[in-house]
Amino acid sequence: MKKLGKYSMGMGDRFGHQGYAQLKAIMEAAKNGVGITPVWNKSNREHMIIGTQPQDVRKEADAVTGAAGFTEPYFVDADHINLDTVERFIPASDFFTIDVASYIGKRADDSKIDTFLDRVKKYSGRIEIPGIKRTIRCSADQLWGIAENYLYAAGKAGEIYRKIEKSKGAGNFVTEVSMDEVATPQTPLELFFILLMLGEEKVPVQTIAPKFSGRFNKGVDYVGDPSQFAAEFEEDLMVIDHAIREFRLPSELKISIHSGSDKFALYPHIGSILKKHDKGVHLKTAGTTWLEEIIGLAEAGGEALDFAKSIYIQALEKTEELCAPYADVIDINVKMLPSAGLVRAWNSRKFASSLRHDQSNPDYNPNMRQLIHVAYKLAAQDMGHFFRLLDEHKEIVSQCVFDNMFTRHIKRIFL
Ligand SMILES: [Zn+2]
Repeated sequence: MKKLGKYSMGMGDRFGHQGYAQLKAIMEAAKNGVGITPVWNKSNREHMIIGTQPQDVRKEADAVTGAAGFTEPYFVDADHINLDTVERFIPASDFFTIDVASYIGKRADDSKIDTFLDRVKKYSGRIEIPGIKRTIRCSADQLWGIAENYLYAAGKAGEIYRKIEKSKGAGNFVTEVSMDEVATPQTPLELFFILLMLGEEKVPVQTIAPKFSGRFNKGVDYVGDPSQFAAEFEEDLMVIDHAIREFRLPSELKISIHSGSDKFALYPHIGSILKKHDKGVHLKTAGTTWLEEIIGLAEAGGEALDFAKSIYIQALEKTEELCAPYADVIDINVKMLPSAGLVRAWNSRKFASSLRHDQSNPDYNPNMRQLIHVAYKLAAQDMGHFFRLLDEHKEIVSQCVFDNMFTRHIKRIFL
């Protein structure tokens, strides 16, 4: 069976130019004694906007690992696929993030609900989960609600899994189930029963991505109470541990955090809880390499700085259109976006420090950062120019990508 290591990291590289810099961060972690399995992820949405194919991600991953002589396992993740989109990802991917978000809340057949409720009645009342000290109550109503919300979705996860398995063969790919792109977080109790359902569906789930409390906006820090997150995260780990034993799930099953990158307020909590319980994690980051590319180009100055500025200025005019597909995962205060006139006069340092996620720098502007994060479509429309600049300023850009990955993410969680 294909397996991830204890620690793995999902990395997005929208334009396929930064794989080597990302891998270098992984290799630097190894030099510091921490093995992390690299996973290159790209969602259908990103492929559609840029006009790439899943095969392109595979080619990049094979090329950079080959060139670096990287002999450890690595994966290509069909990120957030469902029954409608999985097909074209099958040949090139060996990690599948089965996204059941759109199926949650749909109702399974009465007969299936009845069978489920019958099967779980022994849990009604109070559930003991080793490692969790508080009493977790579980009423008949709650069980009913969980069946109504999640049973259909678990069935769909089974259907999608079997479709992939039929083509690729059991054990030849990693299976993740994700439920993070929904409005309501799943409680540890819900997670427990969702894992039971996946066990019944015989989905050999190796990573599970719940939605946590608080906001996980793309490319910026966590919004919410980090200590509440920590408590929830720790309970989820205990639930997973218990579910592995109770529901015969793969022993390597671990939690997956769809972080949207840059959750600096959470990283110390995540790191210490993982160490406390000796648990693994899959940390999925977003396509923020694109932001590092723009920061690098801004630092390079001249034509490259002009290009970075033009992306921002165009984005200002198309804010609504660019933000629409990402409405649930960004929060931009448009009043805090600097005007085109202002930005035109900026130098390299001012532009780069407005965009770089360094909270100690007074120039840092999370609104501008989020807008540029979703503005990659504009670079896709001027790809020849963009790629030429990336090639001309390869060194400075890849240093930005590496620093971001290693210093701001890996070091804060794993080292
Ligand atoms: Zn996600």
